[in-house]
Amino acid sequence: MKHCIFCKILRHELPAQMVFEDDQTVAFRDINPQAPTHILVVPKRHIASLHDCSPEEEVLLGHVLRVTRNVAEKEGLQESGYRVILNTGAGAGQSVFHIHFHLLGGRLMSWPPG
Ligand code: AMP
Repeated sequence: MKHCIFCKILRHELPAQMVFEDDQTVAFRDINPQAPTHILVVPKRHIASLHDCSPEEEVLLGHVLRVTRNVAEKEGLQESGYRVILNTGAGAGQSVFHIHFHLLGGRLMSWPPG
């Protein structure tokens, strides 16, 4: 998508602090971190939100989740724990309409989330 900010990042047209990239996925640090570790894990395919996913994208989403797990391990979060968030829709806090998992860690997390 031409004007999507995450598409621009994954095409390396906009700078980002990349932590991982493969043929289907990128992971980069959030520009406005909400925890000591706050990484966004993003499929390269432009899908607006979880609600826009098709059955054909099940395997891709599984891969993105697996990458999220691996990035958490690389960041040393497996002992302390971490939170993975997928905001879906403006009412749930989604502000960038290119599906992404937030990986948060490095501090205690409260429940329920705000
Ligand atoms: P959401 O509100 O769930 O759609 O999450 C979007 C996230 O993208 C927010 O946490 C923003 O801080 C983050 N974000 C927006 N623009 C950038 C950018 N250029 N580089 C890194 N993170 C960004």
